[in-house]
Amino acid sequence: MTRLDFPRLIAKKRQDLEHTPEELRFIAHAATNGGVPDYQLSAWLMAVVLRGMTPAETAGLTRAMADSGRRLRRLGLRRAPWVDKHSTGGVGDGVSLALAPLAAAAGLVVPMMSGRSLGHTGGTLDKLESIPGFRVGLSLAEIERQLRRIGVAMFGQTREIAPSDRKLYALRDATSTVDSLPLIVSSILSKKLAEGLDGLVLDVKFGSGAILSDPRKSLELGRALVKTSKSLGLKCVGLWTDMEEPLGLAVGNALEMRQAVRVLHGDLGGSDYVELLLALGGWMLVLGGRARAWEEGARRMEKLLKEGAALRKFKEMVRAQGGDVRVAEDPSRHLPAARCVRVVRSPASGYLTGLDARRVAEAASLLGTKVDPGAGILLEAKVGSRVARGSVLARLYGPGEPEAGRAEKAYLSAVRIGARPPKRTPLIRKVLR
Ligand code: URA
Repeated sequence: MTRLDFPRLIAKKRQDLEHTPEELRFIAHAATNGGVPDYQLSAWLMAVVLRGMTPAETAGLTRAMADSGRRLRRLGLRRAPWVDKHSTGGVGDGVSLALAPLAAAAGLVVPMMSGRSLGHTGGTLDKLESIPGFRVGLSLAEIERQLRRIGVAMFGQTREIAPSDRKLYALRDATSTVDSLPLIVSSILSKKLAEGLDGLVLDVKFGSGAILSDPRKSLELGRALVKTSKSLGLKCVGLWTDMEEPLGLAVGNALEMRQAVRVLHGDLGGSDYVELLLALGGWMLVLGGRARAWEEGARRMEKLLKEGAALRKFKEMVRAQGGDVRVAEDPSRHLPAARCVRVVRSPASGYLTGLDARRVAEAASLLGTKVDPGAGILLEAKVGSRVARGSVLARLYGPGEPEAGRAEKAYLSAVRIGARPPKRTPLIRKVLR
């Protein structure tokens, strides 16, 4: 196939015909090597958005994108199970910060390639960079060496891993073609495939704080991710989880890191953050063949947190990636911190019946979370909490008064208070297998 044939590929997709694996490899190759102009690739992306892809095409494109670059080599680590977790993104979702070292402490190898903040959702790389000195821009050789030495690395996409995704993602962003199921699936899974994993646990979120807020669409995405993974030989389980309210008690890079460190110290007191952490960890052990059921895996994870093994692994990782390891012992002293600029008080007595995650994210953004790692919000009441008029709902951390006023207004717009306690709904709605 040549560059001149590309209009034929665009026409084929426009006519809703199925691409062959060879055609998909050509497209991924062209995206990597610049063999086809951006306008042709963009036209093809738009045709995919409008016509969709069959499961076989989605799998073929995913494989072709993974093969467009290098895969991690498992030198000296062939016997240990390689398992990763991926979240479709949410508000206050700093679970990976504790989960990666915890899973490594449990004997898994965890090559956790993570992303930056996308839209209103936070990014694991930004949260990690709140640790002074912590490097996320590791080379492939550094990642492989660190995995051999300590079993865990948290890093950004390198130039060598799925380079066609870098190109296609940038074009999607510029041409309003992000919002397509097969393109999202192939983008996420090509990178995971290139990690050389045995198993992948997905946290697929729905609700106001999720990227796909519509539950039906998010469930469809979850099912497509699991199905495509399995068809490519990658063991996969998806948890379909509620992101109507923020996860945990912190929103903002350094505040979420503090929360993770507290959990790594074995402070597991009643939060949905810990519930999700243990469930995801339990499933990672199942996929790695180290537990028969997720509950058994979760119990092992809980023990490792209480015994300090996960904290020790976290310190090893922070040290290996150049970060200030004192963060692990005294995060309030060594992480960046903004001033508490406002306490948000409840306007009425009753029960918190709703806390809209997207509006909370807007409030956090008004405090400067995109530019200041110390900025953010600590939640003092979650959905179901009993509140009295004037009681503290949240603490806002940011630069000063003008921002605090706007953020408080945004936060209060997220709050619903009712006379009766809301119906309790489970955080994990479905297990997709
Ligand atoms: N994350 C990705 O890596 N790719 C997408 O398309 C969406 C989310």
